[in-house]
Amino acid sequence: MCRGGDRSARTHALALALTRSLIGSSFMKALQKTAPSFGVEFREVPRPVPRPGEALIEITAAGVCGTDVHIFEWSGGYEFMAPLLPLTLGHEFAGRVIDVAGDANGLAPGALVAVIPSAPCGSCAHCLSGAAESCERRSAKGTSADGGFAPWITAPVVNCLEAPNGVDDELAALAEPLTVAQEAVLKGGVTRGDRVLVIGPGTIGQAIALYARMAEAAEVVVVGKNDPLRFETLRALGFWDLVDIGDGDLETALASRFTSQKFDIIFEATGVPEVVQQSLTFLRKEGVLVVAGIHPRRASLDLTRLVRERHQIRGTQRAPRNVWPRVLDSLATEGERFRHMITHRMSLDRGVEALELARTRRASKIILSPVVRKRSS
Ligand SMILES: [Zn+2]
Ligand SMILES: [Zn+2]
Repeated sequence: MCRGGDRSARTHALALALTRSLIGSSFMKALQKTAPSFGVEFREVPRPVPRPGEALIEITAAGVCGTDVHIFEWSGGYEFMAPLLPLTLGHEFAGRVIDVAGDANGLAPGALVAVIPSAPCGSCAHCLSGAAESCERRSAKGTSADGGFAPWITAPVVNCLEAPNGVDDELAALAEPLTVAQEAVLKGGVTRGDRVLVIGPGTIGQAIALYARMAEAAEVVVVGKNDPLRFETLRALGFWDLVDIGDGDLETALASRFTSQKFDIIFEATGVPEVVQQSLTFLRKEGVLVVAGIHPRRASLDLTRLVRERHQIRGTQRAPRNVWPRVLDSLATEGERFRHMITHRMSLDRGVEALELARTRRASKIILSPVVRKRSS
């Protein structure tokens, strides 16, 4: 194994050969999307080799996300992936650094890291002008490049963030969805005393509720639809203002519970287009609606009302890089609270079963273990 720093390609090749001989075969089994239709396959693929500036990581925890479920079902929104298949899924992952090629930038083998799954291209006009967050040729592990549902992955050293003390691999694997939620809460501008409504009780909705509470919102109400398991998770996280709309619609369910008061900030984390218009009824004048779901269809909006109420609608997706250290800090201090979000832990070879559990909402957050770590370490 190497300790980083510049060295010849020959030395590096020798180090890799040594790593491989320690690990074994140059193949591994990964959970891949192979065709633009329903399903995934657990199949043998070549083990990745780090290029200069990359780390080789042994993945010990990888979260199953709603995105993975959409891609598994092929239910719309990810058609751009079709020409890139086969592709290993998974974008929420953490593990141990095995090797670093080229400049290690302080990253040592053995470090537990959370990996930022998306990387700017470095060569487009945005990247060259220093606005890498707006890069239009961004590569994203799990959707446009091979992801974390595999025992090993390579990632740019600059995308590997060392987990702080007290943060283990499964908590580090939560970092990615937590950054999405933290960014949504920052976009919404939640401040002390706000009344917050979160529509969608999944991982993102749960984490938005947690970060809204950490931002000292006075009230956080979470809405779901026939979702007993995820409501159970929310109760474990300390949320009791829960509204199950059952088989009815959002407007009727909320109207029966909240008559006069309106919400300052509403978060949409369902991916159901109709929810966007329905939720505006419950937004106060000049309130903010943050749309975080991935919507397979267009929504229709009453723009006259939007204008008269001076409502703000803000879209949010992945978080910029500066949100990651903030989230890792919150995991270091509130990790045990966040751990309640994890409802299932399974080995990677049960990945198809895991996707089915998530798809049928019999699980909230599932953590897959591509490589089973020794619990004592
Ligand atoms: Zn995700
Ligand atoms: Zn770029």
